[in-house]
Amino acid sequence: MKHSEELLRSHGIKVTPQRLTIVDELYGRIHLSIDELYMAIKEKFPSISLATVYKNINAMMEKRFIKEVKIPNQKSRYELIKEPHSHVVCQKCGKVEDVHIDLSTVAKEAMEKSRYHINEDALIFTGVCPECAS
Ligand SMILES: [Zn+2]
Ligand SMILES: [Zn+2]
Repeated sequence: MKHSEELLRSHGIKVTPQRLTIVDELYGRIHLSIDELYMAIKEKFPSISLATVYKNINAMMEKRFIKEVKIPNQKSRYELIKEPHSHVVCQKCGKVEDVHIDLSTVAKEAMEKSRYHINEDALIFTGVCPECAS
């Protein structure tokens, strides 16, 4: 709990009990949809509205503390910003996990071919997770 408070402060985000709960949830479960976050927060703060949860998430996204992970055909997930990484998504159970791969040569090739200046090189891979495959 203490750690979450410091993290919020160091990003210039006002600490509120609701925000601390969001951070704790994202620590424990990594990629959560807005519904999952809302459910978890509602357990502790029954009167909170979905709009308030969105407002808190947006405030933390503005401070580059939380990031939206956009996955094709799925609701957005949210995660705490850490080092850049890609994601693997299970098409059967919908699980989303981090995968750390070096995309520097891929990004370089994309820049050369498109002549775009690329500043984010994360990818989303879809497939079947080991649990669903067995
Ligand atoms: Zn799966
Ligand atoms: Zn992630």
